[in-house]
Amino acid sequence: MGWPGAYCPDMPTRFAHPQPPRTSAAHARAKVFPVFLPLAGCPGRCIYCDQHAQTGQAPEPPDAVLARARAELLARPDTAGPVELAFYGGTFTALPESVQHRLLDFATQMRALGRVGRVRCSTRPDALTPALLVDLRERGLDLVELGVQSFQDAALAASRRGYDGSLARAACRMVAQASLGLGIQLLPGLPGHKPEDFARDIAAVAQLKPELVRLYPCLVLDGTQLADLWRAGEFLPWPLAQTVDALAEALRSLWSAGVPTARIGLAEQAGLAILAGPRHPALGQMARAKALLLHVRDQLAPLARPPRVLFVPRRWQGEVLGQGNALRAEYGALGLTVEVWDEAEFGLA
Ligand code: SF4
Repeated sequence: MGWPGAYCPDMPTRFAHPQPPRTSAAHARAKVFPVFLPLAGCPGRCIYCDQHAQTGQAPEPPDAVLARARAELLARPDTAGPVELAFYGGTFTALPESVQHRLLDFATQMRALGRVGRVRCSTRPDALTPALLVDLRERGLDLVELGVQSFQDAALAASRRGYDGSLARAACRMVAQASLGLGIQLLPGLPGHKPEDFARDIAAVAQLKPELVRLYPCLVLDGTQLADLWRAGEFLPWPLAQTVDALAEALRSLWSAGVPTARIGLAEQAGLAILAGPRHPALGQMARAKALLLHVRDQLAPLARPPRVLFVPRRWQGEVLGQGNALRAEYGALGLTVEVWDEAEFGLA
């Protein structure tokens, strides 16, 4: 007779890592090749943003940027395969139409040479129209990453984004209706943005089911309006531990909705002066490890007899116990020791 709750101490209960599997489509494995156009097309400078420091790139005319991108793409070995060309750092869809076309013509030329597979851009939710998106798709654009930041009206207003949550939702739907891939960027911890707002944002993302999401907890960068607010004591960023917990809950929801997370936390360029905020070089790993702990805890609930060992596939061993094995005690509190094994799935026994 089987053990109740499908658990037998001699036969581990198995489960896969809950992270959505990478699709088999070639584009899912293509390297993203960023072409940065810092602040190009932006209607102003958002209070938290310093694209020149974030991209490590000074302002340059698009032709100079494209000349460098062309040289780098042509220098790649033929065996490296096509990249996904990404126009990042500004508001692509608010650039003059002639510039948008020039950038996409460049992408088309590189595609014809086998150097580029897909093309994406980043932009703001309030810089789109259905006709523009269809035109860009017909000119070769494949995916639009929207800097939504939040869907919550109060946080958007406090952060002076200039649009509300309903416009942000409509923009996401507009991208999908234009048969373009959708990426959503969120900035938890903006002024007026609380962890419960972030949970609501994640629920909205899970419903919208974008192709990817990026989570950039709000940092205070020198030279921004947010730095002035922080110095005046009018803005306090989220503490690191609270941020990791919020990101872990977010990941649990996104994993269960099948939404891949392309990035957690700002990539720190040399010269980026971060004054305050939840900054850690392993922020993504910390959040993923905590999210996995939550998932393991969920696996225990239906089991009639408590298991004593969590078996971890070798490929995931660096992701389970967190930085400096910080989560060992939390697994211990669940009655579990952690062991590595050479199976593809996790096991509880
Ligand atoms: S729209 Fe985006 S890139 Fe432009 S200033 Fe605002 S945050 Fe920065």
